[in-house]
Amino acid sequence: MVLETRPANSMQEVRNNQTPGKNEPSAEGGLTFSAEQREKIAASLSTLTTWRTLSLLYSCVNCGLCTDACHYYKATNDPALIPITKMKKLLRLIKKCRVTWNSKLPFLPKSSPLSTKEIADLFRTVYEDCTLCGRCGMACPSGINAGPIFHTVRSIFACMGKAPVGLEKPVSTALSKWNYLGLDVDDLSETLEWMAEELADELKIEDFTIPIDQEGAETLYIPHPLEVRDYPLLLTAAVKILHAADEKYTFSTIHFDTVNYAYYSGHIENMITIVKHLLHAKEQVRAKNVVLAPCGHAYRVLRWEAERNLGYRFQFKVFTFSELIDRFLREGRIKIKKDSIDVPITYHDPCNIARYGGVIEQPRNILMALSSNFVEMEPHGALNYCCGGGGGLSASGDYGQLRIQIGKVKVEQIKKTGAKVIVTNCYNCHTQLIELNEKYKLGLQVKSIVELVADSLEVSGKKNNKAIILRYFLNQDTFNVKFILNLSGNFFNHIL
Ligand code: SF4
Ligand code: SF4
Repeated sequence: MVLETRPANSMQEVRNNQTPGKNEPSAEGGLTFSAEQREKIAASLSTLTTWRTLSLLYSCVNCGLCTDACHYYKATNDPALIPITKMKKLLRLIKKCRVTWNSKLPFLPKSSPLSTKEIADLFRTVYEDCTLCGRCGMACPSGINAGPIFHTVRSIFACMGKAPVGLEKPVSTALSKWNYLGLDVDDLSETLEWMAEELADELKIEDFTIPIDQEGAETLYIPHPLEVRDYPLLLTAAVKILHAADEKYTFSTIHFDTVNYAYYSGHIENMITIVKHLLHAKEQVRAKNVVLAPCGHAYRVLRWEAERNLGYRFQFKVFTFSELIDRFLREGRIKIKKDSIDVPITYHDPCNIARYGGVIEQPRNILMALSSNFVEMEPHGALNYCCGGGGGLSASGDYGQLRIQIGKVKVEQIKKTGAKVIVTNCYNCHTQLIELNEKYKLGLQVKSIVELVADSLEVSGKKNNKAIILRYFLNQDTFNVKFILNLSGNFFNHIL
């Protein structure tokens, strides 16, 4: 696919622009807390940390199995970065805050105020020294997972407006413009218009249009704003796949941002406000399901965090793009050329999509359909190591250096595969992998799974006819038609 009508962005520019305020100092750099704020944090630590959290923290049997599970410790050998060491730091502060009877008698516990240093240290632990990846929870025999525990503490800071600037700013932009980069509707419309013209030329379809705000579509596609502004070729790739599969899809001008950095900052109320706006957009176009551009935390938020916090189940399905591609392949709605890339390819599992979301087989089905040279990293899938850019770290300003250092574990994993192409399904991971590739001089091509599939699409009129006819009958939605189709599957294969 060659579409080059916009000047290519340098990777530096893309990185600098990834979030507003990316290069500004994080809150941690100048973190100060008034006595009143310190009191509030102490009160929150003693009330917001539930008995469930406490019982988890107390159930540690000091086996040490979480030590190597964490990429922070594995990359640095720093004992302070072992998951249970980080969690015990929190436990010490909680204990300090939960003393209810402050007696002068020598044998009774004393409560003492938390110092700014203690709070700043806790801040660093939950925002900088943990990507919330959840891998320690897989290794721990007691099921202690630092991710959700530290996320609860993040919410305490976020509600006081003390989250890192790199996370706070995109959230406030999203709350005012409904996308974290502050793009206008015109930015989306112009990009889609330009893409439609390019695709009309490429696919030789004179009246090629990209549906916007079309009512009653099967799929509402929510792009990543980076696709709209900086990676239009990746957005084109998504449209090409949707078109090739003859999917009835639409974009929305009301909400065109998958991202929800309020989840990473810990501000649940803001997270839900952003989700509600997306749900409003879906209601307006009356789309059946929602498909999200590759983004790990966006998938997590819409797939289960939102339902959990809202307290009800969505009456629609949420897919990440790799699930959709896998379904299109299985239904025969798209076909891809095998081995158009003849070098070894490996796949990085985004933690929120694989470990937490269980989307593990789907990207592998796609990559094995694409290449005979697909090599797994070890470990992979649910046990995969975080790339180091998760937990909002790739957006958190000052934390850049640490992110590159802890990415060493991923670098070693990739090197062992001998792969020349690394593929992923999350823009945060993508950005981190590009930086690791540069800093560690890996000489890799870093690809989105969407881009790779779009580049290998086989557009066949014959296959499309089959898809259209099958979908027509399936849309009749009667048992009889489906039953007959099942029986006559081979017949269809034969005649089409
Ligand atoms: S959640 Fe991930 S980053 Fe955080 S302590 Fe556990 S293994 Fe380490
Ligand atoms: S693996 Fe679990 S039980 Fe063992 S030291 Fe770590 S937190 Fe404690």
